[in-house]
Amino acid sequence: MTQTLIIGAGITGAALAYQLSRRGEPVTIVSTHAEGGLASAASFGWLNASYFLNHPHYRLRYEGMAAHRRLTEALTGLPTTWQGCLWYEATGDAQAETASDLQALGYQVEQLTRAQVKDRLPALGPVPDSALFFPEEGVSDPATLARALIRASGAKVIRATVQDLTVESGRVTGVLTDLGAMPASRVILATGTGTPELLAPLGYRLPMLKRPGLMIATNPLPPVCPVILATPDQEVRQDAEGRLIAPASAGHQSDSAESLGSFPVVVNATLQRLRTLFPGQHIHFAHQAMALRPVPGDGLPVVGQGPVDGLWIAVMHSGATLAPVVAELLAAEIAGEGQSPLLAEFRPNRPF
Ligand SMILES: Cc1cc2nc3c(=O)[nH]c(=O)nc-3n(C[C@H](O)[C@H](O)[C@H](O)COP(=O)(O)OP(=O)(O)OC[C@H]3O[C@@H](n4cnc5c(N)ncnc54)[C@H](O)[C@@H]3O)c2cc1C
Repeated sequence: MTQTLIIGAGITGAALAYQLSRRGEPVTIVSTHAEGGLASAASFGWLNASYFLNHPHYRLRYEGMAAHRRLTEALTGLPTTWQGCLWYEATGDAQAETASDLQALGYQVEQLTRAQVKDRLPALGPVPDSALFFPEEGVSDPATLARALIRASGAKVIRATVQDLTVESGRVTGVLTDLGAMPASRVILATGTGTPELLAPLGYRLPMLKRPGLMIATNPLPPVCPVILATPDQEVRQDAEGRLIAPASAGHQSDSAESLGSFPVVVNATLQRLRTLFPGQHIHFAHQAMALRPVPGDGLPVVGQGPVDGLWIAVMHSGATLAPVVAELLAAEIAGEGQSPLLAEFRPNRPF
């Protein structure tokens, strides 16, 4: 029987464990961090295809939202909601252009007037002249989702750090960990930012950008933000407990800053922006989470067969959106059900 090790217990490893277990494949997860991962535990969790780098990326992200819907149909109690996004990161002509570009792709876009924005968000302080609403978008908590998927998969989870992959005659034979050697006939790297150093000894260079992200949670508030809100200088959503969840950088999906700056300054500036958005609310700092985003050198996912037989790779930014669909497609490919054209542009052997 195939001994499959998935390295990594974030949303990517968890979604893969779930999809393989549905095919009757027993898997073991090996992870430094507990179920819920690393970037997954700091994520904003916005599920969308309105942000994309090229058309294949758009299509994969769009299918990512569909795959999330399939998960919520298959499993109960998942932390995924579909409140839609009210967006005015761009204004004027640039906003109208975004609307027509997305509509041309078949994306659902509603164009809202100032009065319609005020109607949907009565608590909003500064109201824009116009905004877009993307009704198909939602939010998940990737760490909670990862734990639910691991539970549903029945996968065994071992807390250990993989130090090296073992390879014989061009085929993976297992991993070396701080707990000792673990044999396997198949190894899947869902290791986020930890992926390049595991691949380097095999002569495979995976460039990984340095993109730190800080997520802030406030105290619980009365309902003020029933949508994902994306303004020119702040993205924010409100979770089931009433807390505002807010990235510390504007336009965080495309944020290319390599450092965060002074922590108290960044946190206070974010809180100040939230207080301006929702005046009259008593908004205080409650919690923060920081992680490096796993952004491959060209910004696009890296998914597929690795440089030796039996080794597979799944590493990506926007993994909150993408992991469920990538897991569906990669599990099918691993099980010999064929390769999806949706992954064609994201193969590990492309030039970086
Ligand atoms: C601040 C922030 C905001 C984000 N916002 C969004 C968003 O709004 N929408 C969106 O779609 N995406 C968003 N993302 C991106 C998304 O969260 C990530 O792409 C996704 O969580 C990656 O999941 P992962 O499972 O691949 O990696 P991770 O969650 O990082 O998990 C990697 C796992 O690999 C393990 N690991 C690594 N190396 C080893 C090793 N050598 N041995 C054993 N285990 C190892 C780690 O312990 C961990 O369990 C955001 C990310 C951040 C940080």
